[in-house]
Amino acid sequence: MPDNCLFCKIIRGEIPASKLYEDDDILAFRDIAPQAPVHILVIPKKHLRGPEAVTEEDERVMGKLMRVGNEIALKESIPSYRLVCNNGVQAGQTVFHLHMHILGGRHMAWPPG
Ligand code: AMP
Repeated sequence: MPDNCLFCKIIRGEIPASKLYEDDDILAFRDIAPQAPVHILVIPKKHLRGPEAVTEEDERVMGKLMRVGNEIALKESIPSYRLVCNNGVQAGQTVFHLHMHILGGRHMAWPPG
Protein backbone atom coordinates (compact mmCIF):
# COMPACT_ATOMS: atom_id res chain seq x y z
CA MET A 1 0.00 0.00 0.00
CA PRO A 2 1.90 3.10 -1.15
CA ASP A 3 2.04 5.85 1.49
CA ASN A 4 1.04 8.64 -0.89
CA CYS A 5 -1.86 6.96 -2.71
CA LEU A 6 -5.16 8.75 -2.03
CA PHE A 7 -7.30 5.62 -2.23
CA CYS A 8 -4.86 3.60 -0.08
CA LYS A 9 -5.28 6.37 2.52
CA ILE A 10 -9.07 5.95 2.32
CA ILE A 11 -8.65 2.18 2.76
CA ARG A 12 -6.47 2.78 5.83
CA GLY A 13 -9.02 5.25 7.23
CA GLU A 14 -6.57 8.19 7.09
CA ILE A 15 -8.92 10.16 4.81
CA PRO A 16 -12.69 10.06 5.41
CA ALA A 17 -15.04 8.65 2.82
CA SER A 18 -18.72 7.85 2.58
CA LYS A 19 -18.32 4.07 2.65
CA LEU A 20 -21.06 1.79 1.35
CA TYR A 21 -19.44 -1.64 1.40
CA GLU A 22 -16.21 -3.19 2.63
CA ASP A 23 -14.73 -6.67 2.89
CA ASP A 24 -11.23 -8.15 2.86
CA ASP A 25 -10.80 -7.55 -0.88
CA ILE A 26 -12.69 -4.42 -1.89
CA LEU A 27 -14.14 -1.10 -0.72
CA ALA A 28 -16.99 0.98 -2.16
CA PHE A 29 -17.58 4.64 -1.36
CA ARG A 30 -19.32 7.67 -2.82
CA ASP A 31 -17.38 9.81 -5.30
CA ILE A 32 -16.54 13.19 -3.77
CA ALA A 33 -17.49 15.03 -7.01
CA PRO A 34 -20.49 13.10 -8.33
CA GLN A 35 -21.08 13.20 -12.08
CA ALA A 36 -24.54 11.64 -11.78
CA PRO A 37 -27.24 11.45 -9.06
CA VAL A 38 -25.55 8.22 -7.92
CA HIS A 39 -21.77 8.00 -8.38
CA ILE A 40 -19.91 5.30 -6.48
CA LEU A 41 -16.33 4.05 -6.71
CA VAL A 42 -15.46 0.41 -6.09
CA ILE A 43 -11.78 -0.35 -5.55
CA PRO A 44 -9.60 -3.36 -4.77
CA LYS A 45 -7.77 -3.04 -1.46
CA LYS A 46 -4.64 -4.26 -3.23
CA HIS A 47 -2.87 -1.29 -4.78
CA LEU A 48 -2.99 -1.64 -8.57
CA ARG A 49 -2.22 1.51 -10.56
CA GLY A 50 -5.01 0.80 -13.04
CA PRO A 51 -6.49 -1.84 -15.33
CA GLU A 52 -3.05 -2.17 -16.98
CA ALA A 53 -1.63 -3.56 -13.72
CA VAL A 54 -4.15 -6.40 -13.38
CA THR A 55 -2.63 -9.88 -13.52
CA GLU A 56 -4.08 -13.36 -13.44
CA GLU A 57 -3.88 -13.43 -9.65
CA ASP A 58 -6.28 -10.45 -9.49
CA GLU A 59 -9.02 -12.02 -11.62
CA ARG A 60 -11.17 -13.17 -8.66
CA VAL A 61 -11.20 -9.70 -7.12
CA MET A 62 -11.90 -8.03 -10.48
CA GLY A 63 -14.98 -10.21 -10.86
CA LYS A 64 -16.00 -9.34 -7.33
CA LEU A 65 -15.85 -5.61 -8.15
CA MET A 66 -18.48 -6.17 -10.80
CA ARG A 67 -20.67 -8.60 -8.83
CA VAL A 68 -20.73 -6.51 -5.66
CA GLY A 69 -20.96 -3.33 -7.75
CA ASN A 70 -24.21 -4.64 -9.21
CA GLU A 71 -25.56 -5.43 -5.73
CA ILE A 72 -24.71 -1.90 -4.58
CA ALA A 73 -26.36 -0.40 -7.65
CA LEU A 74 -29.57 -2.32 -6.91
CA LYS A 75 -29.49 -1.14 -3.28
CA GLU A 76 -29.05 2.42 -4.54
CA SER A 77 -32.10 1.94 -6.81
CA ILE A 78 -30.18 2.29 -10.08
CA PRO A 79 -30.80 -1.01 -11.89
CA SER A 80 -29.63 0.78 -15.05
CA TYR A 81 -26.11 2.11 -14.61
CA ARG A 82 -22.79 2.68 -16.33
CA LEU A 83 -19.46 1.20 -15.24
CA VAL A 84 -16.27 3.12 -16.11
CA CYS A 85 -12.64 2.19 -15.50
CA ASN A 86 -10.23 4.80 -16.84
CA ASN A 87 -6.72 3.63 -17.72
CA GLY A 88 -4.15 6.36 -18.25
CA VAL A 89 -4.21 10.13 -18.45
CA GLN A 90 -5.70 10.38 -21.94
CA ALA A 91 -8.66 8.27 -20.84
CA GLY A 92 -9.21 10.62 -17.91
CA GLN A 93 -7.57 8.70 -15.07
CA THR A 94 -6.60 11.07 -12.27
CA VAL A 95 -6.20 8.69 -9.33
CA PHE A 96 -3.71 5.91 -10.00
CA HIS A 97 -5.31 3.22 -7.87
CA LEU A 98 -7.64 1.06 -9.93
CA HIS A 99 -11.29 2.03 -9.45
CA MET A 100 -14.58 1.18 -11.09
CA HIS A 101 -17.04 4.05 -11.33
CA ILE A 102 -20.74 3.18 -10.99
CA LEU A 103 -22.85 5.99 -12.43
CA GLY A 104 -26.63 6.11 -12.54
CA GLY A 105 -29.83 8.01 -11.94
CA ARG A 106 -29.79 9.96 -15.20
CA HIS A 107 -29.71 9.30 -18.93
CA MET A 108 -26.19 8.43 -20.14
CA ALA A 109 -25.06 9.67 -23.54
CA TRP A 110 -23.12 7.47 -25.94
CA PRO A 111 -20.38 7.82 -27.05
CA PRO A 112 -18.87 9.35 -23.91
CA GLY A 113 -17.12 12.69 -24.38
P1 AMP B 1 -10.59 8.95 -12.40
O1 AMP B 1 -10.66 10.32 -13.05
O2 AMP B 1 -11.20 7.87 -13.24
O3 AMP B 1 -9.18 8.64 -11.96
O4 AMP B 1 -11.51 9.04 -11.12
C1 AMP B 1 -11.06 9.49 -9.89
C2 AMP B 1 -12.30 9.82 -9.11
O5 AMP B 1 -11.95 9.94 -7.75
C3 AMP B 1 -12.95 11.14 -9.53
O6 AMP B 1 -14.28 10.90 -9.95
C4 AMP B 1 -12.88 11.98 -8.25
O7 AMP B 1 -14.01 12.81 -8.07
C5 AMP B 1 -12.79 10.90 -7.18
N1 AMP B 1 -12.18 11.33 -5.93
C6 AMP B 1 -11.04 12.06 -5.76
N2 AMP B 1 -10.79 12.23 -4.45
C7 AMP B 1 -11.77 11.60 -3.77
C8 AMP B 1 -12.06 11.42 -2.39
N3 AMP B 1 -11.28 11.93 -1.40
N4 AMP B 1 -13.18 10.72 -2.05
C9 AMP B 1 -13.98 10.21 -3.01
N5 AMP B 1 -13.76 10.34 -4.32
C10 AMP B 1 -12.67 11.03 -4.71
